[in-house]
Amino acid sequence: MRVRALSAFALGLVLLVTGCGEPGKHTEKSATSPSASAAPVATPAPKPSPTRTTATKPELRPLPKKLPAGLHRASGSAGVALTFDDGPDPRYTPQILAQLRKFRVTATFCLVGKQAKRYPHLVAQIVREGHQLCNHSWRHDVNLGRRPAAEIRADLVRTNQAIRAAAPKAPITWFRQPGGRWTAEELTVARQLGLRPLHWSVDPQDWDHPPAKTIIKRVARASRHGSVVLLHDAGGDRTQTMAACRRLIPDLKRRYGVTRLR
Ligand SMILES: [Zn+2]
Repeated sequence: MRVRALSAFALGLVLLVTGCGEPGKHTEKSATSPSASAAPVATPAPKPSPTRTTATKPELRPLPKKLPAGLHRASGSAGVALTFDDGPDPRYTPQILAQLRKFRVTATFCLVGKQAKRYPHLVAQIVREGHQLCNHSWRHDVNLGRRPAAEIRADLVRTNQAIRAAAPKAPITWFRQPGGRWTAEELTVARQLGLRPLHWSVDPQDWDHPPAKTIIKRVARASRHGSVVLLHDAGGDRTQTMAACRRLIPDLKRRYGVTRLR
């Protein structure tokens, strides 16, 4: 009996040890509970229920089925406008800036407020090199448009302040709702703050990490005179976007011209 109990305990220990080692990929999470492996306890820690983390404010407005009217989805001239979302990012924003410089074109950068606060020198560089600025919410909140108007306003103002702290004189002309999940209420708030609602007309879905050649093909196929192309210089691994842009930017320039948004 005693031997069996002992071996059961040993097996339990082994299971505990391998259990701790398995989610080694999630180093950030396991690092927060260093005591878990040190003290084998009888009852395993309960899994956090998903409702506990998502239950914030229940009263989100429903999303409209159609995009609201009044979104800018064209460059405003014959050329194509390039837009880069979710930055600034220290790995990729300098690469894109270098490419834009090389091909002698300008773009619009849709900045996330907390990224702008973290990397003000990149915001300043974007402005210094002649590009346009777009507010892309404080923390890339895809549900922002469904929140109360006061919350939307506070988010956009906070984001503008972070951008202005880095580039005090640069105009922030545009606002783009993360994920394109617009609501009419949000458009009203944006306009009250002097921000024009910027959508897009060409989306190669580079956020999903397709290979560079797929990004190039999708942009080439969908672009027309006056297109607004959506790309990302942050928010994940953008190696493929960086590679695609080396072909895509000169191609668009040759076919349509690359223009500033108007
Ligand atoms: Zn975004």
